[in-house]
Amino acid sequence: MQYQAKKKFGQNFLKDKIYVQKIVQSIPNIHKNEKIVEIGVGLGDLSDELLKLYPIKAYEIDSDLCSLLEKKYSDVLESGRFELINQDVLTLERENGWLHNQDYILVSNLPYYVATHIILGVLKDPLCKGFVVMTQKEVAHKFCAKDGDCDFCALSVLTQTLGDARILFDVPANAFEPMPKVTSSVFMVCKNNKTLQLGFEDMLKTAFCSPRKKLFKNLATRYNKDFVKKIFERLKLQENIRAHELSSPIYHQIFEEIKKER
Ligand code: SAM
Repeated sequence: MQYQAKKKFGQNFLKDKIYVQKIVQSIPNIHKNEKIVEIGVGLGDLSDELLKLYPIKAYEIDSDLCSLLEKKYSDVLESGRFELINQDVLTLERENGWLHNQDYILVSNLPYYVATHIILGVLKDPLCKGFVVMTQKEVAHKFCAKDGDCDFCALSVLTQTLGDARILFDVPANAFEPMPKVTSSVFMVCKNNKTLQLGFEDMLKTAFCSPRKKLFKNLATRYNKDFVKKIFERLKLQENIRAHELSSPIYHQIFEEIKKER
């Protein structure tokens, strides 16, 4: 398909078939009632492989691309095996069932400029049961970091709270057209059925607001200093500890302490 990629939509098309196949092979076993959703069809390289195995519902922001795709996929679109929606996913109401009204798995080579936003959206959507996505390598490592890793951050705690995350493989820049400036990574999250407690994410944002500063100082920007001191004493935390040095369960304990005082 002859097409001039648009930078503003993060269009880096995955041209190396080996990586396309590796992504599709990484999809976990799909339950009977689960649907596959793709964000960003692009020229259809990933969708082609997905369609060999599953019916898909896909979103594409670019109407020029959608016109081309409607011709390319006329048969599967007509049969209903492929549902193509010309829409910016960020404009959809992000509540229960953001991208589908049934349980779904997201598989996507995400547009990097909105990847974090989209991942947070599907993490919080109870109908999304898991995802296999490609992002910039640094972003993938933030979502998948384990306790004590230097990448460990609020995103890692949120992900650990809502599922199990795993880096699968890296994809070099020369696998794409046009080539991005960065290396990419594919990672997978299998979600549990937990939901976030109101206020937990805000507490995490505060805890990691200045990653180089001590956790105590960060928390004291939002909560009373004496109160933070009391929590540190109760949980036997050292005052000089930094945010990335604590584990996800400890953040839940801190949150429980904060709730008690509300
Ligand atoms: N799936 C294709 C592939 O692997 O080659 C394309 C991936 S490309 C990195 C990202 C795609 O997402 C582009 O086609 C872009 O137009 C589309 N896109 C960007 N922002 C979007 C948004 N907010 N909602 C829906 N699609 C979007």
